[in-house]
Amino acid sequence: MYNAKAYSVASSTSPFAPATIARRDLNEHDVRIEILFCGICHSDLHQARNEWSGLMPTVYPCVPGHEIVGRVTKVGPAVTKFKPGDLAAVGCMVDSDGTCPECRAGLEQFCPNFTLTYNFPDKYTGGVTYGGYSDSIVVTEHFVLSVPSNLDLAGAAPLLCAGITTYSPMRHWGVAKGSKVGVVGLGGLGHMAVKFGHAFGAHVVVFTGSPGKKDDAFRLGADEVVISRNAGEMQKHAGSFDFILDAVAAEHDINAYINMLRRDGNITMVGAPEQPLPVSVFGLLFRRRSFSGSIIGGIAETQEMLDFCSRHNIVSDVEVIPIQKVNEAYERLARSDVKYRFSIDMASLKSE
Ligand code: NAP
Ligand code: ZN
Repeated sequence: MYNAKAYSVASSTSPFAPATIARRDLNEHDVRIEILFCGICHSDLHQARNEWSGLMPTVYPCVPGHEIVGRVTKVGPAVTKFKPGDLAAVGCMVDSDGTCPECRAGLEQFCPNFTLTYNFPDKYTGGVTYGGYSDSIVVTEHFVLSVPSNLDLAGAAPLLCAGITTYSPMRHWGVAKGSKVGVVGLGGLGHMAVKFGHAFGAHVVVFTGSPGKKDDAFRLGADEVVISRNAGEMQKHAGSFDFILDAVAAEHDINAYINMLRRDGNITMVGAPEQPLPVSVFGLLFRRRSFSGSIIGGIAETQEMLDFCSRHNIVSDVEVIPIQKVNEAYERLARSDVKYRFSIDMASLKSE
């Protein structure tokens, strides 16, 4: 084991503070990465504050962060894909059993024995996993992604969660040229969905509760923007969407969006509010609509997404911050005041 620098929270109400954590020494398939940038996902906030206590209670101290890009510093003897000096990335998962039908299908995100990047039992150390608000991480090769060299690294970090979480369901539900696509909530995930929808050639309509984000929505690639509290504007789109991606992190009226789907249209929830959402079944019965969920994406698809971003010059719009500003960043994220992802410059951790 070796000591790594990190920022952790000691309880659901504590601010982040500098910490030292133990990371494992390299096993033969392991890659050690010096972390350069780590995005701040709303899931980090949910977990740091124990907002998912029912499903995934937070183990403290907690070091969040699953949007990691960095440079390989060491590799184990059996590693074939990476060498020291390579750019590399790690997303929300760091391990899975590799043998179940889901893993064999390249859908590690559904493996019953996967390991999430933080706040998850760590089968190597016997403790809990620690995420990317840290200066380094050790991950088995299969869960390390290659970062195309033309991507800005601070903006590439959020692709590892916000990117794949929106890319994967859009691909799964066949978003393509001519599709009419809705994106609900213009945050970290939502703004990536707008960029992907635009790149796939879809007609993209953004639903936002923040009128101040309207110009940005157009700049990001939206064809139309609807202020969600405006009933008249909402009504105009009734029964017209092929696909809607809902990336809202809090309780809200899902039925208003279900009613906007056309026959056989689908709404996929990627936002993860803690409380159940009441769904009016009649909205689904009429027009055979479907309501589903999606979680991140498999490793092969994550690499496909990174390569797609490389070809289409897509990265996240980021506000780069030093780690010392992480508490302030969380307050702003809780207020939907971020354009559109915080990306922590991990060089700032060196001065701790
Ligand atoms: P974010 O940056 O905070 O964006 C969420 C957006 O939702 C906000 O910008 C805001 O958009 C809207 N919103 C917030 N509160 C709202 C409310 N009370 N009513 C209606 N709209 C509201 O968060 P994020 O990082 O994109 O994450 C979004 C959600 O996805 C979180 O719950 C997160 O845990 C979850 N998530 C899921 C996965 C997965 O695999 N399924 C992966 C990552 C994250 P407007 O200002 O435009 O209204
Ligand atoms: Zn995330």
